[in-house]
Amino acid sequence: MNIHEFQAKQVLARFGAPVPKGQVASTPHEAAAAFTTLGQPKAVVKAQIHAGGRGKAGGVKLVSSADEAREFAAKILGKPLITHQTGPQGRVVRRVYVEQASQIARELYLGMVVDRKAATVSIIVSSEGGMEIEEVAAKTPEKVISEPIDPLVGLASFQARKAAFALGLKDKQVNQFVALATSLYKAFWATDASLIEINPLVVTADGHVICLDAKMSFDDNGLFRHPEIRELRDPNEEDPAEIEASKYDLNYVHLDGTIGCMVNGAGLAMATMDIVKQAGAEPANFLDVGGGANAEKVAAAFRILLSDERVKAVLINIFGGIMRCDVLAEGVVEAARQVQLKLPLVVRMEGTNVDRGKQILKDSGIKVITANDMADAARRVVEAIGGRGANR
Ligand code: ADP
Ligand code: MG
Repeated sequence: MNIHEFQAKQVLARFGAPVPKGQVASTPHEAAAAFTTLGQPKAVVKAQIHAGGRGKAGGVKLVSSADEAREFAAKILGKPLITHQTGPQGRVVRRVYVEQASQIARELYLGMVVDRKAATVSIIVSSEGGMEIEEVAAKTPEKVISEPIDPLVGLASFQARKAAFALGLKDKQVNQFVALATSLYKAFWATDASLIEINPLVVTADGHVICLDAKMSFDDNGLFRHPEIRELRDPNEEDPAEIEASKYDLNYVHLDGTIGCMVNGAGLAMATMDIVKQAGAEPANFLDVGGGANAEKVAAAFRILLSDERVKAVLINIFGGIMRCDVLAEGVVEAARQVQLKLPLVVRMEGTNVDRGKQILKDSGIKVITANDMADAARRVVEAIGGRGANR
């Protein structure tokens, strides 16, 4: 789960990290009031969306009066902001963050991520702040320094100092950086984060090291331990189908193709996507209904699949081990009736109670194309949408 910049800054501040003062606003009027409350000669108004690149896209503006803050908020609120991370449709700005402006002497990069290669959390720093870190890493890998953190010891101060020296920090700034990195790591660990990114981390004109931008992501599997973090979820930033799927404990990922796939088991789901592609079409989603799905869950999965307007045909590929084929068939029949299914439906199932399952489908009167094996199922579903390469 991702959260907004202003929320990440609130979380990090709770752990002692230095962040500029700011106030969130959802109307131009509130933005003007926030400027006045801050009481600073200058402030920055920042679009709050779950994407970076806002600065370059015109989503961040330096303002010197409440009127200016109101004007800029009025210009961007309620409209999509398109950055290189949002895709061409952009993301609608529903809130802005009005923050005290900092005088920037240097822009640096500081990140912490679950580093799968090192099997630890790693701290990553670069002197090239304010730029895409992926780009810096690709072009000048020597400018990105990464250090694995021992989970039992935590961030050792010598590691933090090493990072500070790599950033060219001196004197008091080294100590400030060590304290900042230590509080970030504490926040990371305590909240089951998967990523903290401070880009830029800045040295201000008066020599302070502060977090000017903040991005935080959390491990969904740890969210049940952090109700205060879970509350920060912004459904506007998420795919409604994926939210609906999470209510039923379904693993659903929306993709761009036209074949809706309902499968049990992540491995089989991946294989199904592969074989659909090989047969000449594109999967519309990844959907794993899990091992012990009941009819209600299957029906929910089916509805979610069909809520995608791009879906032109549905492929159900189930191996009934723990999941019984008759339960699956009941769920499919129930859902097909609910949604008055008009799209072609190809079913391939195998395993426990398969005959009873097939009988249920047959007796239902729903038009089902049955397939003998996976390759056959993929071929038939592609045929149903008009053949290889159709509806791309
Ligand atoms: P994004 O990464 O989405 O572009 P940032 O928060 O990094 O958004 O802001 C982009 C740029 O705007 C920063 O690199 C910095 O130069 C400037 N900026 C952001 N916040 C402030 C601030 N509080 N004071 C002064 N400049 C800021
Ligand atoms: Mg940034």
